[in-house]
Amino acid sequence: MKEASVIELHGIKREYRMEGKKRKHIKDRTKTSQEVVVRALRGVDFSASAGEFVSVMGPSGSGKSTLMNILGCLDKPSGGTYTLDGIETSASNTDTFAYIRNQKIGFVFQSFNLLARTTALENVELPLFYSRPDKAPSNVLSMEATGAAGNQSRSAMSRKEKAAAALREVGLGDRMDHFPSQLSGGQQQRVAIARAMVNDPAFILADEPTGNLDTGMSLEIMGLFQELNRQGKTIIMVTHEPELAAYTKRIITLRDGELVSDEAVVNRRSAADDLAEWKREHALLADQNPAGVLA
Ligand code: ADP
Ligand code: MG
Repeated sequence: MKEASVIELHGIKREYRMEGKKRKHIKDRTKTSQEVVVRALRGVDFSASAGEFVSVMGPSGSGKSTLMNILGCLDKPSGGTYTLDGIETSASNTDTFAYIRNQKIGFVFQSFNLLARTTALENVELPLFYSRPDKAPSNVLSMEATGAAGNQSRSAMSRKEKAAAALREVGLGDRMDHFPSQLSGGQQQRVAIARAMVNDPAFILADEPTGNLDTGMSLEIMGLFQELNRQGKTIIMVTHEPELAAYTKRIITLRDGELVSDEAVVNRRSAADDLAEWKREHALLADQNPAGVLA
């Protein structure tokens, strides 16, 4: 039996139209056809099923951010269709679009994006304040055959309990009352991942999630993603780094707005194993160099 697609993109195009310099002496504005069209995505077909862990790669300017914005329902394509968890997104109005974004997608950014004067627990609770099943646009509700049962179990647990459970899942059960400034970068990103999961979204969309982290913390975060994926979470991750993509299960590559390759990762690496090895090497280095001063 074929798994139902969580994400289905057909012929996705995104064009940016920018007006060139207007020539003031021309009265007829339609004749100032200096318009420049950037074709950031030129008909991308892509689908992903529940449980996948996909890297989006490609050189700078290839369309990764544009694709990410469309997948994240932050932007609409100029052409093509995007079906998310059975909902045809391009047909939706602004409210529905925002609802889909809040309920169906968990965002993880390079810069963590946590509120500074807010504890880890409160940061993770935030998405739950906006998730009101009773406020869901009716066209979305009618599309969600399984929604009722899910909502019931959700309301059974209080917001705090749900946020606490998510923090425990990312290994921060003992840091709930800490403020972001009292946490390491890796721990802050864990909070962000807990926040991304707390609504039980259809997938997690991560944009260079280890871009601000050192090697050890990056491996920790990749290990966490691998563990969450093993538990069934669907993850789409934009990354520049082939070493990080090697921890995912599938790599799609964009070039000049086109999807030029789509490959399963063979011999997938274990981030937990690589982290253990990295720590051993580090301990060795520290032994040889007790002062911790590296040449
Ligand atoms: P990547 O994230 O892979 O570096 P982007 O998706 O940011 O690529 O950009 C793809 C192409 O679209 C680039 O040529 C870029 O200059 C162009 N582009 C991106 N955003 C805009 C915008 N808001 N207006 C005009 N052109 C844009
Ligand atoms: Mg980009």
